[in-house]
Amino acid sequence: MRWMGNRESNNVEDRRGGGSGLIAGGGIGTIIIGLLYILLGGDPAVVVNQVIQQTPQVSTKTTSAEEEKLASFTKVVLAYTEDVWDSIYNERGEIYEAPKLVLFTQQTQSGCGFASDASGPFYCPADKKVYIDLSFFKELSERFNAPGEFAMAYVIAHEVGHHIQQLNGTAAAVQQMKSKLSEKEYNQLSVKLELQADFLAGVWAHHANRLRNILEQGDIEAALNAANAIGDDRLQQQQQGYIVPDAFTHGTSKQRMYWFKKGFETGDPFKGNTFAQNQAE
Ligand SMILES: [Zn+2]
Repeated sequence: MRWMGNRESNNVEDRRGGGSGLIAGGGIGTIIIGLLYILLGGDPAVVVNQVIQQTPQVSTKTTSAEEEKLASFTKVVLAYTEDVWDSIYNERGEIYEAPKLVLFTQQTQSGCGFASDASGPFYCPADKKVYIDLSFFKELSERFNAPGEFAMAYVIAHEVGHHIQQLNGTAAAVQQMKSKLSEKEYNQLSVKLELQADFLAGVWAHHANRLRNILEQGDIEAALNAANAIGDDRLQQQQQGYIVPDAFTHGTSKQRMYWFKKGFETGDPFKGNTFAQNQAE
């Protein structure tokens, strides 16, 4: 993937290396926010940590040259998402309100509660920020066996996809259905929201390449490999040794790859109706 020397986004809040952003909170409010966060597709471990962890630990980790490169990479990819979504919104005569991206080390406070590196990257609708601990990229490459810069870019673009869903009201519409549906039905709806974020990441890749010529040989395969590796069926198999379909929140590996590819091939943000029946079953 071509990125070095390109514009880095200014919408990055760098909280690495310190405990900054940690506000002693807790209590029932935090738990409610935490639950909301889980329902929006977050990792329960985040909330568990929030409740258990009373004493903020100040990280003493120093940043290496390798990590600086990753930070720079993340800023360039975020800038690419701004270029693409700016242009798509402009074409419709609208203005794109870009999200902020928070880089943190180990733990930080988000508008959706406490975040730890265990949660993986996520988007918080309450403060419209994407949260990433850069160590996730190492995990992606080593634990999930999905190496490559474009695999990392796909993950960032997926989170920005959730921001698009927040801007256009899709996320709110899904959230509103929560009280009307059973847990199982709502979970299925959450999966569709996740798959649409994958689709939007594909749309982004299409236009980023059109505008900035970023793709090199093997890049799309790297993204598809990542989508395959972090599908819920694979994750569950790895963690528990068996699959529980009702607990899926991100979609199967096959579904994730299908939707990313569809977004990439069409480049059309309106072709991503993952909510229609029988899509990539
Ligand atoms: Zn997601």
